[in-house]
Amino acid sequence: MRVLIVGPQGAGKGTQAALLCDNLKIPHISTGDIFRANVTAGTELGVLAKKYMDAGDLVPDEVTSAMVKARLEESDTDGGFLLDGFPRTVPQAEWLGGVLHEKNHDLDAVLLLEAPDEVLMERRLARGRADDTTEAISRRLALYHSETTPLLEHYANVLVAINGVGPVEEVQQRALAALNSKLGSSDTSEGDPEQSASA
Ligand code: AMP
Repeated sequence: MRVLIVGPQGAGKGTQAALLCDNLKIPHISTGDIFRANVTAGTELGVLAKKYMDAGDLVPDEVTSAMVKARLEESDTDGGFLLDGFPRTVPQAEWLGGVLHEKNHDLDAVLLLEAPDEVLMERRLARGRADDTTEAISRRLALYHSETTPLLEHYANVLVAINGVGPVEEVQQRALAALNSKLGSSDTSEGDPEQSASA
């Protein structure tokens, strides 16, 4: 199963992504987490990424794509993966499409986590991450609207949206049900008959 999880900051994306990966036994590929690990370790990549992250800006595509490509070449991703935070622009999605097509793969589902603005703001302020300054939060929000929203149209045929408000476990059940129904209803090229029966 190859899945992308999308949502505005504060939608609970990271929490739900980690639980989905446990439940589905697929690796969690979070570009934000990989960048943060590099910042903490003080690598060259971390030093370069930090100035963009602190400003809430996107790290340049060539840097981000090279990092994702290297991660997708690791063998634990052969049976599937969950992408979190990448792609977040249409050009990144087009690039990823090319990389996956080379292996005759595609994304099976794009899960959108939705929540009303009031809830999002409350959660953002409560999160307390180092790069969560007011300026960075508003910059990320603006970028989400201008760069990431067009992704939803790009992925319209594999998109499934769920309500991200509620207890973590309940949202997780919604996410699993939504992914199952999406996979059941789509004609996946690997065509697992057991999966289509569960729709
Ligand atoms: P996140 O944890 O997904 O909010 O990502 C934290 C920060 O990492 C973002 O604000 C960006 O600076 C950077 N980042 C993560 N994913 C990407 C991406 N796909 N493209 C560019 N920059 C990214």
